[in-house]
Amino acid sequence: MCAPHDRLFTVPTLFIVPTPIGNLEDITLRALRILREAALIAAEDTRTTRVLLQHYQITTPLTSYHEHNKLAKLDAIFDALQSGDVALVSDAGTPAISDPGYELVRHAIEQGIRVEPLPGASAIITALVGSGLPTDGFVYLGFLPRKDRALRDFLTSLATERRTLVAYESPNRLVDTLKAIESVLGDRQVCVARELSKKFEEFQRGPASAVLAHFEATAPRGEIVLLIAGAAEVEPTIWDEAQVRAALRQRLDAGEPLSSAARAVATAAGWERRAVYSLGIEDD
Ligand code: SAM
Repeated sequence: MCAPHDRLFTVPTLFIVPTPIGNLEDITLRALRILREAALIAAEDTRTTRVLLQHYQITTPLTSYHEHNKLAKLDAIFDALQSGDVALVSDAGTPAISDPGYELVRHAIEQGIRVEPLPGASAIITALVGSGLPTDGFVYLGFLPRKDRALRDFLTSLATERRTLVAYESPNRLVDTLKAIESVLGDRQVCVARELSKKFEEFQRGPASAVLAHFEATAPRGEIVLLIAGAAEVEPTIWDEAQVRAALRQRLDAGEPLSSAARAVATAAGWERRAVYSLGIEDD
């Protein structure tokens, strides 16, 4: 950790500023300071951002930067960056994560403009750490395909993925998506994280079938992150003694020397070679 510091750089900077995903308190002191000091805030929806700015009494000028004008707006934002800092915000969470921002960041880097991302709220991480699913590796999938066939093909392509899968999902599609998960991936552990940091926050954790039953009975509402446990490690099968004896007998009866038969059977059976060899001597 380091103490709050004044800017080390005096060149105009594009700041990527995360905003709350629900609870207005979930914004850092630094994010508030950057929003206050920037020359311009580029916002996905200026009305949404205005609510946040009013709450914190910030009066920095706003311009829109959203999915439908993001390329047309690049020049205006780069013009602003000639003389001052620009703070990019989305409606909620971290800009450029399933939100506009990626192209702006890429173009800024290409044009030699300083880019400074601030750490802060994102629904992915909030959901993941509360899910109880492994966090040591995860795959962020963005929004899942909407069409059933495409969704099933997509899930099939992930069937052997061992890391936790994290996706954004809409409440209207959640039940069908859980059905597809159960049928394509089996009854895996899943977690539905709903309305994070808001009044009706809910975590439903359990096998896909149980979570599906819950949301079939109670239609989901609000914003949702869906997490799916990665594929389980396939346990090597260990043979029992009768299986080992039978396999060994078959090889010995076929004329194979005990040493090589014991080695082959031990490998297939998950046994120590010496233990298989001893059984062979006993049976002789
Ligand atoms: N950039 C944002 C972030 O960093 O979290 C994500 C933006 S994406 C357009 C919006 C989706 O994020 C929602 O449809 C929902 O799936 C998820 N989301 C956002 N806020 C959420 C919340 N409070 N609880 C659960 N999911 C949320």
